[in-house]
Amino acid sequence: MSAREMQGTHTSTWCMGCGNFGIFHALKNVLATLSANDTVLVTGIGCSSKIAQYMNGYRVESLHGRSLPVATGVKLANHHLTVIAEGGDGDGMGLGMGHFVHTARRNLDISYFVHNNQIYGLTKGQASPTTDLGTVTKFTPPPLGNVEKPVNIAHTALSMGATFVARTFTANVPHMTEMMAAAVAHRGFAVVEILQPCVSFNAVNTYAWYKQRVRDLKEMDEYDPENQEKALALAALWGDIIPIGLFYKESRPTFDGVLPQLQAGPLVEANLQQVDITPLMQEFV
Ligand code: SF4
Repeated sequence: MSAREMQGTHTSTWCMGCGNFGIFHALKNVLATLSANDTVLVTGIGCSSKIAQYMNGYRVESLHGRSLPVATGVKLANHHLTVIAEGGDGDGMGLGMGHFVHTARRNLDISYFVHNNQIYGLTKGQASPTTDLGTVTKFTPPPLGNVEKPVNIAHTALSMGATFVARTFTANVPHMTEMMAAAVAHRGFAVVEILQPCVSFNAVNTYAWYKQRVRDLKEMDEYDPENQEKALALAALWGDIIPIGLFYKESRPTFDGVLPQLQAGPLVEANLQQVDITPLMQEFV
């Protein structure tokens, strides 16, 4: 399918100017290079997760914060599929944080694209787990604004064992496409954090705010995507400079790659007629 054919027939309800549009473009570019029959997109709930509604192909819009457990189930049922999980900062770093951490340390062969707009957009502007300190929102009023230290998505992914960690910016579609495609090509848990302005409910982290700060990692002296310590130090930068690009990549056995139960082939192709479940059932009756 071409990128144009990847677009479904549902009309988008995203606000005009939303950063999700750029991500939609990049995702279509990437999906167009993959076999539609062998690829599954799993999202959670939120503005970002609505991306599943606007695509063609196999898609699951799951529960809030649960894109990764559903993606895990899909991958373990048929590990020959390309599985992409997607969602927002609230979905993934709030309700889904436990799943994020454990998927990273297991190194499942899944790509995870996190739209980070630093706010809960669908519910109209509450602080999210990535909202910057001091940001005033409906539930973090002045004079203090948000008093909770924000989650740094790329840094957390690195420290929890993700084997591919990148950050990109929705205003740069070629860069996003490159990072997403590299994540999908990587064998292991690949996290791409995407800086994504919410034009309706985040008046602080705007396109202009990000443009002043994003810096390509390749321009930075300390850059070495094979050195985890350097990657952690660069991922921790969040202020006047916000690095984008591939922080780190390593080769490590994947969870689905080492399970003996999957060595004979995908579980969905197993002949269950020959499995005697009588002893198992007797344990429960
Ligand atoms: Fe985009 Fe924000 Fe509108 Fe949601 S509320 S569609 S994130 S601009």
